[in-house]
Amino acid sequence: MIDVLVVGAGPAGLAIAAALCDLGLRVAVLAPVAPGGAWPNTYGVWVDELADSALQPLLGQRWTDCVVCAGGRSFDLGREYGLFDNARLQAHLLHRCERANMTWHQGTAQRVYHAPDASHLVTSAGETITARVVIDASGHAAALVQRPAPQRVAHQVAFGIVGTFTAPPVRAGQLVLMDFRYDHLPGDAKAAQPTFLYAMHLGGERYFVEETSLASKPPMHFEVLEQRLYRRLAARGVTVRTIEHTEHCLFPMNLPLPYLDQPILAYGGAASMVHPASGYQVGAALRLAPRLAAALAQVAGQPNAGPVALAGAGWEALWPSAAVRNRNLYELGLHSLLNFNAAELDEFFGAFFQLPYPAWTGYLSNTLTTPQIVRDMVGLFIKAPNPIRAGLVRSALREPALLTTIVSGQ
Ligand SMILES: Cc1cc2nc3c(=O)[nH]c(=O)nc-3n(C[C@H](O)[C@H](O)[C@H](O)COP(=O)(O)OP(=O)(O)OC[C@H]3O[C@@H](n4cnc5c(N)ncnc54)[C@H](O)[C@@H]3O)c2cc1C
Repeated sequence: MIDVLVVGAGPAGLAIAAALCDLGLRVAVLAPVAPGGAWPNTYGVWVDELADSALQPLLGQRWTDCVVCAGGRSFDLGREYGLFDNARLQAHLLHRCERANMTWHQGTAQRVYHAPDASHLVTSAGETITARVVIDASGHAAALVQRPAPQRVAHQVAFGIVGTFTAPPVRAGQLVLMDFRYDHLPGDAKAAQPTFLYAMHLGGERYFVEETSLASKPPMHFEVLEQRLYRRLAARGVTVRTIEHTEHCLFPMNLPLPYLDQPILAYGGAASMVHPASGYQVGAALRLAPRLAAALAQVAGQPNAGPVALAGAGWEALWPSAAVRNRNLYELGLHSLLNFNAAELDEFFGAFFQLPYPAWTGYLSNTLTTPQIVRDMVGLFIKAPNPIRAGLVRSALREPALLTTIVSGQ
């Protein structure tokens, strides 16, 4: 019998499958496509998040000239950013799986049931696959793992263009992580729903420009983002010349955590691993995979360990109480952002990027301890202008349940 069946072969599914194979577990993947099916999204990551040196060569492009425009200033971030070459990242993960003779099942998971010694997954074609534990890595609309009904989910939405332009939309060699300027918006621009430009030079005459709503509830419409992108470019004297590709990005920022006592595990979007304040996830999925794999390998060494023991150890490795507490703090941050208009969010990030380097980098990469997050939130509060402080207090008071869980450490 195989030890672990991974459902889904996106970045998270393959990251955990590869890490499990590295440790000698018997692994299978179930995915709707054959190995090597292309991933549709472009994945950005901070280069310093790739501590595993084997991962850095998998970046297709890197930028050292990285800036944020917020609060009337331009911040040189001094932090290197990269975009994965999806084909290279996937080939690297698949190679680690294949050298361990991992089994690939092509199909779609429909349901799973559990016995004391194994879980039995049934595909939509009626095939049953048995494993000691199943990991649901089927993305944000998870196929199998259970969670409380989502009630107040915010979405990140973006519309992007890869193409050529009549003039450079950003400096040659530059990455603009966030440009919050809103002077190009018509009417009461200050009070508009906030969006920002995420843009980068891809080499030669190619650029990627994307108008992004960091978090909105209900999600902003793609058409609005597209219009804003063209308006923003026009205000800087830039027109689109050719379109190579358009990207429509929509995913939930704060899906409730899955139940942490179920006999099935999840990973990636399915495990609510998206950072609630930034939307990033792929770097964390690569970074945390060895830790989850080690926890599972340890329990798998006990011959009688079945789904309950394996999933229990996995949930504890993935979502220990400190990580849950930190996530609640990030979610509190997200709710503040949701209540800000364009002018307020611009000022908020103007204060955020004045935080010390370890504070803002750690916050965005989710590498801080709870006391460090609290310290940095207080630091931000002190730096922020009065209207932003008032907004932060109002948002916190609107979230008594979240505040209670944070304060009580639950
Ligand atoms: C356009 C876009 C851009 C993004 N950019 C970034 C970024 O730059 N950086 C970042 O960190 N994050 C980014 N994200 C957010 C997030 O990290 C991605 O959504 C990421 O793809 C999630 O990875 P995943 O492996 O969990 O899920 P997915 O990539 O969604 O993969 C899930 C896999 O499971 C398969 N599957 C689904 N249902 C079943 C089933 N029933 N049975 C079997 N298989 C199934 C799917 O076919 C798919 O292959 C972006 C998201 C989008 C939409």
